[in-house]
Amino acid sequence: MFELVAPGVYILVSRSFDSNIGFLDSGDRKVLIDTGTGVYYTQLDDALSKLGTSLSTITDVLLTHSHVDHIGGIVPLLKIGSPKIHLHKEEADRINSGDMSLTLADTFGADIPPTKIEGVLQEGDVLEMGDLKIKVLHTPGHSSGSVCFHLEEESIVFTGDTMFAEGSFGRVDFPTGDPAKIVASLKRLSELKNFTTALPGHMGPVRGNAIRSATSSYQMAKNWFNVS
Ligand SMILES: [Zn+2]
Ligand SMILES: [Zn+2]
Repeated sequence: MFELVAPGVYILVSRSFDSNIGFLDSGDRKVLIDTGTGVYYTQLDDALSKLGTSLSTITDVLLTHSHVDHIGGIVPLLKIGSPKIHLHKEEADRINSGDMSLTLADTFGADIPPTKIEGVLQEGDVLEMGDLKIKVLHTPGHSSGSVCFHLEEESIVFTGDTMFAEGSFGRVDFPTGDPAKIVASLKRLSELKNFTTALPGHMGPVRGNAIRSATSSYQMAKNWFNVS
């Protein structure tokens, strides 16, 4: 079941290997933020139907990064519709050239066919989705093209696998992971304005005082990786 976070902003917290999935419903746009592995797409469609919509109406998919647990859901989605897929340039360029290795699909025994990413994101881009404005923050570390999506007016950040609740943070031992970069990215999140709610890619949301949570993730990562 999707939980309402702010008007038009929902989160589906996963109970499996899938990533959490965000849903934005604003004006003529229906947007997923990350898609899970795709294994549970019928459950996702059911959850959307409770909000009076369905997977076939999705206009846009914003990906926090291209790991299979976040990107896999575009495979069933592209069979029933033609949403525009958005991903940071660092990972979109590789996928657009046919290199699917960063998705880790092989490692996890999944199959993601070559895909065209039309929405190539860069730091500072502002996406207008209906009445919602979404700022792209490039936050490398978990992967080179990891981003967070900042809804400044709603004071919400979709933090992907960069920052998790309770001082936790993403692993950096996959290809293009970088400890010093994730520490810098967490520091940046801890210094954001308009950041009350964090909606991470895994585990529960942080509702209220997300800055404090980001600060503790930053401190923990800094100590763990011994980065000054
Ligand atoms: Zn993940
Ligand atoms: Zn990941």
